[in-house]
Amino acid sequence: MARPVQYNIYGQTDVKLVKEGPEGHTGEGFFATSLSKVVGLARKNSIWPLPFATSCCGIEFMATMGAHYDLARFGSERVGFSPRQCDLLMVMGTIAKKMAPVVKQVYLQMAEPRWVLAMGACASSGGIFDTYSVLQGIDQIIPVDVYVPGCPPRPEAVLDGIMRIQDLVGKESLRRRNSPQYKALMESYGIE
Ligand code: SF4
Repeated sequence: MARPVQYNIYGQTDVKLVKEGPEGHTGEGFFATSLSKVVGLARKNSIWPLPFATSCCGIEFMATMGAHYDLARFGSERVGFSPRQCDLLMVMGTIAKKMAPVVKQVYLQMAEPRWVLAMGACASSGGIFDTYSVLQGIDQIIPVDVYVPGCPPRPEAVLDGIMRIQDLVGKESLRRRNSPQYKALMESYGIE
């Protein structure tokens, strides 16, 4: 079944706009808004994910990247494997305690601002693996912004998680990363 197609063409009334501009004030020949909103708009529509996939949830992510679900619609088709170029760490799969320092190192190698999505029950809470060797949720080692439930989550759920991340990214104040609250959050994870 063909999916409906939307075009991002301004000025036409019979097509739905995919992206809308930021809030602001407009008048004859000018548009004014705040820097924070413009930066948020740019960031939220150009998120570069770093998939840290260790098991079955990673396969579901591959489906999300495929032509049918097409993560590229959200500006996130540029999946990177260098932490220095990515701003969204997507942890998917069972994380053994031996693997935990590696996840944390990858997180530390990402530049600010960075966000984290825990995909699936294992990354969020250890899932069915309530054992001595499995980390019971990656939020024990790094802060998590969005949890996607499921074992595994369907691609629609992953897309929903990405959209929740987009909401956070778009609304985040440019000052948040320098705030005392954010520094305290980092310190609680032993990150300076
Ligand atoms: S949540 Fe389920 S599907 Fe995902 S990695 Fe764990 S066991 Fe596999």
